[in-house]
Amino acid sequence: MSQTDQLKSDIDELVPDLIAMRRDLHEHPELAFEEVRTSGIVEQRLRTMGLEVQTGIAKTGVVGLLRGGASKPGAKTIALRADMDALPIHEMNEIAYRSTIDGKMHACGHDGHTSILLAVADLLHKRRDELPGNVKFVFQPAEERIGGAEPMIKEGAMQNVDGIIGLHLISDYPLGRVGVRSGPVFASAERFSMTVKGKGGHAAMPETTVDPIVISAYIVTALQTLISRETSPFSPAVITIGNIKAGTAFNIIPESAEMHGTMRAFNKDHRHKLIRRITEIAQGIATSMGGSCVVDVIDGCPPCVNDENITELVRDAAILTVGEKEVDGSEDVMTAGSDDMACFLEAVPGCYFIVGAKNEAKGANYPHHHPRFNIDEDALPIGVEVLTRAAMDFLKE
Ligand SMILES: [Zn+2]
Ligand SMILES: [Zn+2]
Repeated sequence: MSQTDQLKSDIDELVPDLIAMRRDLHEHPELAFEEVRTSGIVEQRLRTMGLEVQTGIAKTGVVGLLRGGASKPGAKTIALRADMDALPIHEMNEIAYRSTIDGKMHACGHDGHTSILLAVADLLHKRRDELPGNVKFVFQPAEERIGGAEPMIKEGAMQNVDGIIGLHLISDYPLGRVGVRSGPVFASAERFSMTVKGKGGHAAMPETTVDPIVISAYIVTALQTLISRETSPFSPAVITIGNIKAGTAFNIIPESAEMHGTMRAFNKDHRHKLIRRITEIAQGIATSMGGSCVVDVIDGCPPCVNDENITELVRDAAILTVGEKEVDGSEDVMTAGSDDMACFLEAVPGCYFIVGAKNEAKGANYPHHHPRFNIDEDALPIGVEVLTRAAMDFLKE
């Protein structure tokens, strides 16, 4: 049996366990920084394999280190990352392994990511004698709240790591397809709030007031010119105000207005420029109209930017897994969604790729974060194979 066939048949053997694990995690979803049961399962599995395990990193994160038996001094270490958290959504799927917890659900596929990485750990552990380097398995809490990756890095998760690879299962990307692209793939994300202060009064006597609603309307419109007039048509970016609150009655000009929005961009400089300009425009307009505006930019996440060399390696691994025709390097791989894998990719070079999990026939065609979200579980072994191959190739080089 060739090495390729051996890996494929080893994976075939693991599939029942892989699916059982994913379903177990799906039934027991845990929110950001509360992944106690999940990380306990991860810890126990990694310990059973004899890995060096660290727990309690960034509260509920787990790291397992597998030392390759064929490592020489100076051997490389590749990190593989999976996120573990679920979402505050009430599951509406009628499935045997439906969430058992009201109001909580794995509606983004992180149950799949965690089970995939456990299977990869198993496969690489079985091959440890031949591994010319080390593998660090990084199980991250709190991706959805954009908050787990950064503290893990601060607590040393990326120390002595030479590269990192991770994947996201995607429910609106066809099963059997793998998307691998160098450069930016997931956008940065900023949440911002604006408080526009004016001067309240009678709606019939606007000259005695400073109307924060009119000021807000100008700000909303002007913010869009940051995209249409200050952004290159070749650099995608998004600014959305999703929430405005002001006023109590039709005949009162209120004292203040509040707005909340998000901003997305695909490169660092563009991101920082837009953050600065959002603030300047909002404050400039408010001041020029006699009011003021306090802008708060919170919960930032950088864009996911893939390293060219590691991406090439993942691409080759994907070709061996699903065939060249099904490996996609087009712009379809990009999303204006964000993922704090970005923090790991800022710390060390790496690649974040996507694995298609859409299959209408199985009801796996709802968007991420939807109460009917699901994945086609046939995507799980594909993820396992690509990650395993890419990790082995990285260490070989
Ligand atoms: Zn998500
Ligand atoms: Zn996700």
